[in-house]
Amino acid sequence: MFWRFVGSTFFFCPTCRIVVHNGERWKRHKSTCFQQSPLTRLQCHTKSFSTIIKKQLADVDNSTVLSITENFKRGEWKAVDIVVEYLNRIHEMDKLLGAFLTVDAERALQKARWLDEKWRKGEPLGPLAAVPVAVKDNLCTKGIPTTAGSRILENFIPGYDATTVSRLEAADAIVVGKTNMDEFGMGSSTELSGFHPSKNPWDPSRVCGGSSGGSAAAVASGMVPFALGSDTGGSIRQPASFCGICGLKPTYGRVSRFGLVAFSSSLDTVGPMASSVMELASVFQVLAGHDSMDSTSLLDKVPCYKDILQERGALDLKDIKLGVVYDERMLSSKGFGQVEDVMRCFQESVRVFTHLNAKVVAISLPFLEEALAAYYVIAPSEASSNLARYDGVRFGIRQEAAHISELYQKSRGMGMGSEVKRRILTGTFALSSGYYDAYYRKALQVRQLVSQQLKNLFQQQLDIIICPTTPCAAFELGEKIKDPVKMYMEDLLTIPASLAGLPALSVPMGFDSDHLPLGLQLIGNQQREDILFRAGHAFQLATNWHRHRPLMYRNYVSTTTDAIH
Ligand code: GLN
Repeated sequence: MFWRFVGSTFFFCPTCRIVVHNGERWKRHKSTCFQQSPLTRLQCHTKSFSTIIKKQLADVDNSTVLSITENFKRGEWKAVDIVVEYLNRIHEMDKLLGAFLTVDAERALQKARWLDEKWRKGEPLGPLAAVPVAVKDNLCTKGIPTTAGSRILENFIPGYDATTVSRLEAADAIVVGKTNMDEFGMGSSTELSGFHPSKNPWDPSRVCGGSSGGSAAAVASGMVPFALGSDTGGSIRQPASFCGICGLKPTYGRVSRFGLVAFSSSLDTVGPMASSVMELASVFQVLAGHDSMDSTSLLDKVPCYKDILQERGALDLKDIKLGVVYDERMLSSKGFGQVEDVMRCFQESVRVFTHLNAKVVAISLPFLEEALAAYYVIAPSEASSNLARYDGVRFGIRQEAAHISELYQKSRGMGMGSEVKRRILTGTFALSSGYYDAYYRKALQVRQLVSQQLKNLFQQQLDIIICPTTPCAAFELGEKIKDPVKMYMEDLLTIPASLAGLPALSVPMGFDSDHLPLGLQLIGNQQREDILFRAGHAFQLATNWHRHRPLMYRNYVSTTTDAIH
């Protein structure tokens, strides 16, 4: 069980499952709690913690990010009450899901108290004031363990925040914890975490996708209103699709990578995950923009996305031309299950866009399989170099050894999982002098070709390319873990945008016959996140898919709010 608290003045009552953050209050709580019936106990808590928040939060669960800030700024909700409610949710639901690796209640409550004080004094508040956020565990957080899902970094506590984290902090968001992930971002199910697998809130016998699976499960189950993920070859979009939420992989260089544990530096991006496109846009507004600490950071100014979404006729996309990828036969031939469900939802989504007056043309995505193969040469090659620093000397756990090379071997051998080792071996092989031309150089040529083809499509006046995010819905835990190639195939539709550094958005587009969510992918031209937001927002005004919530969340809300009223 990885429920870890940093700090000590935080108490959890196992009898009535409530979080108490003050020693005196805790003593009082204990003395009354054990003498009362469950209902009276809950009613007693409702005096110390705002009861209304539970109900009201449930009412706004499709625009939580925006509603929390508005209510907090108006003085209707206290930041401490908001945080306590979310910590309760985490405690209640994460036992089953395992979405978090660390929960820092102390830090979250401290920030909440500080924000309440700031509000009381009438000081200016940031655009994400009092909104709890979960951060993928490969983003450095000062004073909070950052493991990148790997045992080798189990004891690593960074001395600084990643730029994305400090931007969220400066916008007055509240970091509540760090989420589980496939080790160093290598995987598509979060089963390859060095700690424990995370589960899908829609069906806990299924995977939540990966590698940002912990973040996706946390948002989908309502444990946080939004989260940060990272996407190298699909790790934001695929788990967003599996968990029925929205996720944005930004243009490469649009969001700073400073403080991100590097996997494949020429592909890595950091982006937001939330329930709706409107929320993604408000978080992205805070994250995007130049950072001098990242040499690949773009210099261009960031437009005001909120204005764009409000100004343009939200429900009219007549100036937008969509390239629609119909590749059903290709997907079926790869042995993905439920391709019919995916294609049915996809075709319905295309119809929604035609009703929104978008112009639709059929295209086919170039070199899908070649792109996949190239990715699985380039990413491991870069990883083999990036991961050399985890040697037991500079970072991470160290094993006792007689001499230095034994120390490296033992520390890396013990601290890294088998998929990470497989990638390091593949990468070192592809970069070795005898095979460089045959593999690494060839893969770079394919990358160039894919990027050029996509560029050509956008030059032919296409604004967006749409296709399903994944070829199938969330699969069973353990189903693909023994077969790396099957796992790699998961990324078939997400990799082209990654290789070309293009922005791509995943939004919920329906359910398969097992009532598991499916995602629609919108790929845009360089730095055209604004167009993706416009189209995604219009789609969500016209559909209801993003409003559906997993049963466990609905149960949580109804049991807690029924008990109160
Ligand atoms: N599933 C892909 C991989 O294993 C993508 C991972 C990612 O985007 N971090 O490499």
